[in-house]
Amino acid sequence: MQHSVNTVFDKIISGDIPVEPVFENDDVLAFNDMNPQAPVHVLVIPKKRSSRFSELSSKPVEETGRFFAAVSAAASSLGLDSPGYRIVVNNGSDGGQEVEYLHAHILGGRQLKWPPG
Ligand code: AMP
Repeated sequence: MQHSVNTVFDKIISGDIPVEPVFENDDVLAFNDMNPQAPVHVLVIPKKRSSRFSELSSKPVEETGRFFAAVSAAASSLGLDSPGYRIVVNNGSDGGQEVEYLHAHILGGRQLKWPPG
C-alpha cells in the first residue's frame, strides 16, 4: 500500500485543488509554481503517482521515460529550448523535497547560477 497519498499534488491530480495547466498530456500535468524562483517556474507531475525520484529505479522504465519526455515537451511548449532552462528534481530531506509526490521543476527566463545552494 502506498503512503502519503493525500499530498497537495494528489489533490491537484484528483481535481480537488484546481490549477491552470500550462501543459498536459496523457502522462503529466504541468502548472505554475505558487512560489516562483524564476520568471518561468513550472512544476510537472506524473498522473500516475510516485512519491519521489528514488522510487523510479524500481518502476517500469517506460513510465520514467514518458515522464521525462513530457517534461522536455513541456519546456519546449513554454518556449525555453533556445534560451535554455534547468530541470530540478528534489529528492528527500537533504534534497529539499517538501511535497512527497514526484515532481520536476522547470526553471527558466533568466540566467541561472551554478552551483545551486
Ligand atoms: P519541492 O521542495 O521540490 O518539494 O517543491 C515543492 C514545490 O511545490 C514548491 O516550489 C512550492 O512552491 C510548490 N507548491 C506547493 N503547493 C503548490 C500549489 N498548490 N500550487 C503550486 N505550487 C505549489
